Amino acid sequence: MKEQLNIRVGLLRAVKLLAFFLLLLVFGIVSLARLVKADKTEITARQLLTGAALSGSAEGGSWLRGDYTDDQNAPVLTLNGDGPIDVEVGGGYTEPGYTATDAYGRDLSDRVTAEIFGDVLLYTVTDPLGNETTTSRDITYVDTTPPEITLVGGNEYHVPAGTDFEEPGYTAIDNSDGDVTANVRVSGEVEKYRLGSYTLTYTVSDSLGNENTVTRTVWRDAAPQPETVDPEFKAIYLTFDDGPGPYTEELLDLLDQYGVKVTFFVTAQDDDYLDLITEEDARGHTVAIHSYSHDYAIYSSEDTYFEDLYAMQDIIEEKTGHSTTLVRFPGGSSNTISANYCYGIMSTLVEDLDAMGYQYFDWNVTSGDAGETEDTAQIYYNVTSEIAYNGDYEPNIVLQHDIKGFSVAAVEDIIVWGLENGYQFLPLTSSSPTVHHGTNN
Ligand code: ZN
Repeated sequence: MKEQLNIRVGLLRAVKLLAFFLLLLVFGIVSLARLVKADKTEITARQLLTGAALSGSAEGGSWLRGDYTDDQNAPVLTLNGDGPIDVEVGGGYTEPGYTATDAYGRDLSDRVTAEIFGDVLLYTVTDPLGNETTTSRDITYVDTTPPEITLVGGNEYHVPAGTDFEEPGYTAIDNSDGDVTANVRVSGEVEKYRLGSYTLTYTVSDSLGNENTVTRTVWRDAAPQPETVDPEFKAIYLTFDDGPGPYTEELLDLLDQYGVKVTFFVTAQDDDYLDLITEEDARGHTVAIHSYSHDYAIYSSEDTYFEDLYAMQDIIEEKTGHSTTLVRFPGGSSNTISANYCYGIMSTLVEDLDAMGYQYFDWNVTSGDAGETEDTAQIYYNVTSEIAYNGDYEPNIVLQHDIKGFSVAAVEDIIVWGLENGYQFLPLTSSSPTVHHGTNN
């Protein structure tokens, strides 16, 4: 067994050796063929055996035009242009060029290397026989590169509305000055509640005045709304009566910016704006019935009242694709003007609505925009102080009118005040808390 194994190992060695020599032979033939093809000059055995001819051949056929193995001349290295060259600190430069030849006029430019050593750029060329020449250019270091700013958290940053925005951080590194993070100036503002994008600008200069500016877009995303309000009445129900009108669209846009949903008790007083009922519904607000005509003569009888109510319901259905069970009386349930038309009508209507499955809403926060004031600041004061007075134990149903520009103008500040004080803004639904004044007629 062992002897057999030895024979097999020996045989394997012989085969390997044979294969090696065969490979060597093939390589020799191929090399010879390539040399002959490259230059039809006769090749001497000496040229083949000295590395000179072979390495020369790698540079091109011209190396075979004679026997240069005794060349001991240093190559000639010529630099294009004179004077110092500008080199960017920590960076590159534009090579003005050079030429290199040997004593026989053959081009050695491809063999030139250039390397920076301190204040000089050192050029070296070595011919295939090892003859070497070095020369140099002086360097003038320049810095035209501004610091590079890296934004932690990226160029697009998202943060939910209502949370404090904290700068996610940044670094600034300069090619000359190194870490210049402390010199970065940040400008721009991120509002706390208004949804959408804000631009922050980061600027930094190096000691030579090379400046860089980058921007970050910070997005205020809508904060997720909890299903239930805690505490139960820490909610504000903004309601807008008598529209849609000329200020309704800007109000809708503003509400979108804060992701706030409200309730519109609509009328058909102005044909030009009825299509906005569709918008109110589509943007997630509650559309509810106020009155088709908003004429107190509707209180003449149950019939006249419901004729008016159904006319408005029809328009709501036409504009939104669905009906509503939410109602607000013109003048509120406590109005006494109705007595001019029909004694006791409000008490009857309140019972009728309840029997028919409707819910009516009065209000417990009065903006004063129905006649007391036309001053936006006063409206803001009225609303916020009454909400504060209600405390955490009453729902806050606010009455405003979206046909009054000075009242709509107070809404943004009211929203910001509410959000800053921990309130949520909700649209009325059939399960919302109700506020009833009580009837006086
Ligand atoms: Zn009204």
